Amino acid sequence: MDLMGVRINTIVSDNVAIRCAGCNELIHGTPWRVNVLDIVAPESAAPWTSEAAINPGPFQFHPDPDHVRSWMARRGWFFCRRGEVREIMRPVPLPGERWGLCDGLHRDQHEFVPA
Ligand SMILES: [Zn+2]
Ligand SMILES: [Zn+2]
Repeated sequence: MDLMGVRINTIVSDNVAIRCAGCNELIHGTPWRVNVLDIVAPESAAPWTSEAAINPGPFQFHPDPDHVRSWMARRGWFFCRRGEVREIMRPVPLPGERWGLCDGLHRDQHEFVPA
């Protein structure tokens, strides 16, 4: 079927149902994609293939930071309150084999709190 010369199936393929990684509900409209960067500081040099490796995403969410925070909380990750939830988050190793996520845009000390 054609609609004004545009094949309908190309429109449908842009609207494949996407679920939010935070609340698991369908996302209508443009999802918010969050990428987790590769670990920069190799002090505790865990190989990328080990279980400590973080899936870099992208993860897709409703455009609401609360949904990203609840996703982080479920994974036991911490969130740096000096930053904000952004499309690119940097993982920071914390004591006790935990991870914190920070946008990495501030210059002072991280302040990690449970997400
Ligand atoms: Zn959601
Ligand atoms: Zn920070």
